[in-house]
Amino acid sequence: MSRKTKIVATLGPASTSKEVITQMIAAGVDVVRMNFSHGTREEHLQRAAVVREAAQSLERTIGVMCDLQGPKIRIGKFESGRIALKKGDTFILDAGCDLGNEERVGLDYRELTKDVRAGDVLLLDDGRLVLDVRKVAGLEIITTVRIGGELSNNKGINRLGGGLTAPALTAKDMEDIRTAVEMKADFLAVSFPKSGADMYMARELMRAAGGHALIIAKMERAEAVNAMDELLKASDGIMVARGDLAVEVGDAAVPGLQKKLIRTAREHNKLTITATQMMESMITSPVPTRAEVSDVANAVLDGTDAVMLSAETAAGKYPVETVEAMSRICLEAEKTDEVTLDTHFLDRVFTRVDQSIAMAALFTAYHLKVKAIAALTQSGSTALWISRHNSGVPIYALTPEITTRYRLSLYRDVFPLMIDYRGHELDLMLKEAEEKLVKAGVVAHGDLIVVTFGEPIGSSGGTNTMKIVKVGEDRRP
Ligand code: PGA
Ligand code: MN
Repeated sequence: MSRKTKIVATLGPASTSKEVITQMIAAGVDVVRMNFSHGTREEHLQRAAVVREAAQSLERTIGVMCDLQGPKIRIGKFESGRIALKKGDTFILDAGCDLGNEERVGLDYRELTKDVRAGDVLLLDDGRLVLDVRKVAGLEIITTVRIGGELSNNKGINRLGGGLTAPALTAKDMEDIRTAVEMKADFLAVSFPKSGADMYMARELMRAAGGHALIIAKMERAEAVNAMDELLKASDGIMVARGDLAVEVGDAAVPGLQKKLIRTAREHNKLTITATQMMESMITSPVPTRAEVSDVANAVLDGTDAVMLSAETAAGKYPVETVEAMSRICLEAEKTDEVTLDTHFLDRVFTRVDQSIAMAALFTAYHLKVKAIAALTQSGSTALWISRHNSGVPIYALTPEITTRYRLSLYRDVFPLMIDYRGHELDLMLKEAEEKLVKAGVVAHGDLIVVTFGEPIGSSGGTNTMKIVKVGEDRRP
């Protein structure tokens, strides 16, 4: 329970068995990601069921994130699953092709031939392969390979400079939203949003299908960066989706943007996930590179809520080892994270009572150097607000709400604990909270903790109280 930064791991063919999923969770996964760009509905539902079983046997709260494919344009499948291209080869993107080979491959967006011109540069697989467009004829885009490599099924296509995507939510996305709701997804990641309206639309569709997931905007287009504030307001969090983002804005601009996005999201009280190629070499190697270790550690120091694994766990050779390595790197980076309470929040104006209590708890916990903050919360908002500032004090969110407990799986510094008491007696509720914290090994008798809650107890909503409690102290008059 001591790692503050959360780990999101994508599931795929390499992480389908109960055995591997159980080991990954034991190694530190907090949230699993179902990537709807790959696999079938049944495969995703099946994996979600395995995750729930494994989580239960390990007594862990594992969040489920569904990631919509969005209007990304992708190549089709190959007869042999993958091919190799080399510099100078002619390669045809053919909207009329069914199963591809060394010479040509299909497209999932037939209109692409209308957007592309001779002279365009197309980037495949997050820019790993580069094609120069020679000619567009009928359903075929004829290209020369500039940078070759291995190319496997359904990899994405971008154009240098951006501007290639179809409308925001596709028919497939709408279907997948229903699958996400059926799966009881806790998070819904929306790919390639350009504006707040795209996010409202996704949220509306999800709600209409009966879902309750938090909505994550994937920042992966040049337009999204410009609409950062609007996207943040319309979403519960963002993903720094460095794969597509790098292709659209240029790879060298991404590290600076990552810092800015994380900082701005925290100021907006929103969540952040840093994603893509974090431990890329571990797809085939049992140890990360020095650069990968630095990348993960720096994302932690940037203040990200979560770091994410994609192909490393979905299709790599070492899914469990990758999670272990990532967890170890996060823990070490957190130790070096210099904790000085931001002073800028002192000047902020709060109009909400609950938010003011959250800030008071943060300030008090930091200066009194208490062992823990215990936020008794229904929605998790208090825990979220406190966690947007690095105080060095762990936040335990005690909630009777199962939905909230799952959401908290993504919040940095926040550890969800279940509380059963639903009555009206403050003392009974505090007693259970203390017992849960002692049982979790977080505090011992005599330790000081800061507790936030709403009075009167038991009526929902409205954190309005902060109390400094000595664990185990007899409070009866
Ligand atoms: P993807 O999104 O893995 O769905 O492409 C993440 C990214 O673009 O970095
Ligand atoms: Mn992407």
